[in-house]
Amino acid sequence: MKLVYSHPNSMILGSMSSALNHEGIATEIRNDILGGATGEIAPGETWIELWILNEAQYEAATLRIKEILAQPERDDWLCNRCQERNPATFEVCWQCFDPV
Ligand SMILES: [Zn+2]
Repeated sequence: MKLVYSHPNSMILGSMSSALNHEGIATEIRNDILGGATGEIAPGETWIELWILNEAQYEAATLRIKEILAQPERDDWLCNRCQERNPATFEVCWQCFDPV
């Protein structure tokens, strides 16, 4: 297990996680407030952590994360399946997980 990324927004973390899963990198999200483990802490005050299960994939994982973070600003996009509006940084729809 190795920590590769952390962010206070669980949706961004989830998007990052699914992008890595796409690459064949198994991930685990910790401190997810949606998981209910932390209880009282308000959203935005908890940094959620993205871990990879296989440390041998650390370089591939960090490379992919850098690629995602380096993507130029794009417009929001609408999901083809559920018509939900998604931020450009998301590679899959946050609502139905349909890829772009
Ligand atoms: Zn959708």
